Amino acid sequence: MAASADASSLPTALSHAQLDWRRDDAELETPHSRHFDDVYFSRHDGRAETEHVFLAANDLPQRFAAWSCARPFTIGETGFGTGLNTLCAWACFERYAAPGARLHLVSTERYPLTRDDLARALAVWPDLGDKAKQLVARWPEAVAGVHRLVLAERVTLDLHFGDSAERLAHLDGRVDAWFLDGFAPAKNPDMWQPALFEAMAHASHPGATFATFTCAGVVKRGLRAAGFNWRKVPGFGRKREMLAGDIASPPADIRRQATPWFQPPVPLPARHVAVIGAGLAGASVAHALARRGVSVTLVDKDGPGSGGSGNRQGALYVKLAAEANLQSRFYLAGLLYSRRWLAEIDPEQQLWRDCGVLQLASSPRERQRQSRFLEHYGLPETVVTRVNADTASRLAGRGDAMRLGLAADDGTEMGGLDYPQAGWVRPARLCEYLAATPGVRFQEGEAVRLERQDSGWQVHLADGTTLEADHVVIATAALANRFTQTETLPLQPIRGQVSMLDLPPGVPELGRVVCAGGYAPPALDGVQTFGATFAPNTADTDLREADHAANLAELERTLPGYVEALRQAGVSLDPASLSGRAAVRAASPDKTPYAGPVPDAQRWQADYGVLSKDAKRIPEIPGEHHPGMWISAAHGSRGLASAPLCAEVIASRICDEPLPVEIELADHLHPGRRVISDIIRGH
Ligand code: SAM
Repeated sequence: MAASADASSLPTALSHAQLDWRRDDAELETPHSRHFDDVYFSRHDGRAETEHVFLAANDLPQRFAAWSCARPFTIGETGFGTGLNTLCAWACFERYAAPGARLHLVSTERYPLTRDDLARALAVWPDLGDKAKQLVARWPEAVAGVHRLVLAERVTLDLHFGDSAERLAHLDGRVDAWFLDGFAPAKNPDMWQPALFEAMAHASHPGATFATFTCAGVVKRGLRAAGFNWRKVPGFGRKREMLAGDIASPPADIRRQATPWFQPPVPLPARHVAVIGAGLAGASVAHALARRGVSVTLVDKDGPGSGGSGNRQGALYVKLAAEANLQSRFYLAGLLYSRRWLAEIDPEQQLWRDCGVLQLASSPRERQRQSRFLEHYGLPETVVTRVNADTASRLAGRGDAMRLGLAADDGTEMGGLDYPQAGWVRPARLCEYLAATPGVRFQEGEAVRLERQDSGWQVHLADGTTLEADHVVIATAALANRFTQTETLPLQPIRGQVSMLDLPPGVPELGRVVCAGGYAPPALDGVQTFGATFAPNTADTDLREADHAANLAELERTLPGYVEALRQAGVSLDPASLSGRAAVRAASPDKTPYAGPVPDAQRWQADYGVLSKDAKRIPEIPGEHHPGMWISAAHGSRGLASAPLCAEVIASRICDEPLPVEIELADHLHPGRRVISDIIRGH
């Protein structure tokens, strides 16, 4: 059960399901898998089958009606298929659950349907039409990994694309009821393996139930061996029998045996949370918590989006390492999540635009790096694709060729990578929007000291007043380690200045955000933003003419055709005439954000000090954290791709839900990683 970073967990493209369409008894179209030669649901009445096999046999109507826990009721499924089970569970939840209850679904899928096939398969259930529409609108790319979809205010779906057993072994979360679906064991023997039942057992809450349509011996034996009790119950339609059962005492989760410091803290009640810092990191945590019904006070010494998140426009893109590693997996997951999250909160695209991002290869070395990246990841072309210089120049010029810079040394124009779904965001506006979420109260104030009392946290503000909260989330970028509890977390300030030019009418427009050394998005309301400078260990925010000059030089190097057009239109390119904005971002030493519980560094020193002498003598002590204290920081200049997913990680932990990332990514983000590596290295 070790959660290794094996090849199967790489974020590669998956093959879509290959379907035939057949007519059921009522002449309705039903999908049939070519690969498995089996049906997705009964051709007699798929809906009634789902209700009988998965909902009734798990007692869901009664359990939903009785659910009064603060955490969501969690369903786990093997084989998402068309999503019929999910939509039926959602409808059942709406019908029976109390207004404050929430539903969380975790479903695995090895061969996702295409979006068109999904819509076609679900079209036969008109009364599920609204729900199907929400699902289809959010349907993710067929990329292995976790895709969180917020289907409705109270309903969240995590699609874990990949093999069921492998995906569940990486799940950081537990389930209350299992839908053990998947094609019949005779048609799909690879899935119904002991590893699957073991992974289910490990990911079960005590008393979790399961139901499955099959009675095959391999399933009965596998479930029993993993600790489940089963009984035969009447099957659906012509099937005489099926299985249902439960697991009273799931096995302990031993996946963090070698890293007990990453063991998550025991969940505490979360009625009111104070979030400190109203940049994108804090504002997105506030929004994520408020969506879960938690009351939030968002505190900032200035207004929302006044620090590093205060620019008018920022690029939503990431530069991923050529070889996939935990960090690049996180940033890719973050990019895909941010993109879907923005579409969910702002479908009209008032706060962002999915115009695409071109990442030009500014040198032969960068071109090689991009080739290695494409080879290693194997992502769908809808996520990223290579473009030659001609295509890049047309994409940059919105259809008309726009002269690009030269890839140094070899004299050819730059081609590069195109991320057609990425784009730009208005970070300052986005922070204001998030801070205005119902359930979030914004308070101007500077938090200077945080104190734990029996009743929770006291946040002491510079004006002498105090705020009380069950939890506190620190999201103040380079200032995040100013509190005694966080002072051991290293953060490096990085100054960045963007420049802005007013454009006259008639200047050609950029069609994509164009990135090389810097970035330039398409102009917004007649203003061209470009930048940014990158000055580590500098924390002032004065505007500098030299920085404008550097930004202009980079713009000209990347987009000489555009700069020429600006000159011809009479735009002054004198650095002294530019406006701009400078801000300080923060980075961690390993350039991964901190997102998670704040370690009690003194306790870690005491509990794990022995590791400095012998790194193999791992004490069996779970990591002590400052109870109810969390941090989201060190997003560097990639916060648009990292902060929203980190916000979900933190809100999910606080609210005791499955995480939207695999267990190894959750640990990779853990703020204590540097504390423990320092102890091991004897620092
Ligand atoms: N629950 C689905 C619904 O509501 O439409 C129907 C599921 S269909 C019978 C079985 C699904 O399991 C298919 O979508 C198939 O691609 C998926 N599947 C088969 N083997 C798998 C595996 N090893 N891991 C993950 N999914 C698998």
